[in-house]
Amino acid sequence: MNLQNDSITAIGFLALLIFLFLYIIFSVLRDVIYFFLIHYFGSISLFISKEKQQSILAELNKISYYRKLSADGKEFFYHRVVVFMMNKHFFGDGIKLSDEVKTYISASAVQLTFHIRGFYIEHIQLIRVFPQAVWSRMVQHNVKGLTTGGGVMWLSWPDIKKGFDFPEDGINLGIHEMAHAFKLTLRCDTTSSHRICKSITQWKNNSKISFQKLQEGDTSFFRSYGATNMEEFWSVNVECFFEKPEEFMHLYPEIYFPLCKVFNQNPMNTNSDYGI
Ligand SMILES: [Zn+2]
Repeated sequence: MNLQNDSITAIGFLALLIFLFLYIIFSVLRDVIYFFLIHYFGSISLFISKEKQQSILAELNKISYYRKLSADGKEFFYHRVVVFMMNKHFFGDGIKLSDEVKTYISASAVQLTFHIRGFYIEHIQLIRVFPQAVWSRMVQHNVKGLTTGGGVMWLSWPDIKKGFDFPEDGINLGIHEMAHAFKLTLRCDTTSSHRICKSITQWKNNSKISFQKLQEGDTSFFRSYGATNMEEFWSVNVECFFEKPEEFMHLYPEIYFPLCKVFNQNPMNTNSDYGI
């Protein structure tokens, strides 16, 4: 009887070890596994239906950044969007989570990390989508978007959509919140030797004057919300980087080019998939 119980315990323990081992392998090699399955077996349908694929592609075609990519660039972008969708938990809070909603939000994250191979916005685990701005007890006012230190993102869907419907006005809620999440994923500090952290430090050092100008009321380029603090200035910079790159580069080259290094891309280079 005892022997039988011991055997059952040993089998259970072994099964747990195997599960943990496979989980770790999958986590580390997740993108390689997806890439292999999708590209070599052509089997994105292993994960999603043909109709779903068509629906996601139709939504992506509405996004300016995606439309300017080459055929290969579009394939890679699509692949990363699907990986993002599959790895995040979306929750519709009073709103139906259509393909349009999930595609636009996922594309916000992919746009930032498109040229940073192997980098994912890991910080975010749960994305709550609302039909409008919502009251936040944390900040004590209505918010269109929020990214918490605990890995939860709140997004107002109409504002996400507006961000992509007007791709050249320097306001994009999806990009803004993903920019916060991007930094929270890196967790850079003054001692960080990570290549991206070093470039963020360069951006920060070079942006002191423009931040001060904004705090003094000069909203000729950056919107006033960026004056709230350095973190908001960061996200507002990233919105402008993607939506008004030409003007940004001419007015503030000292902070535009460090951002190119951060994201390993230059939004001006539409002929080469934004490569630098
Ligand atoms: Zn913000």
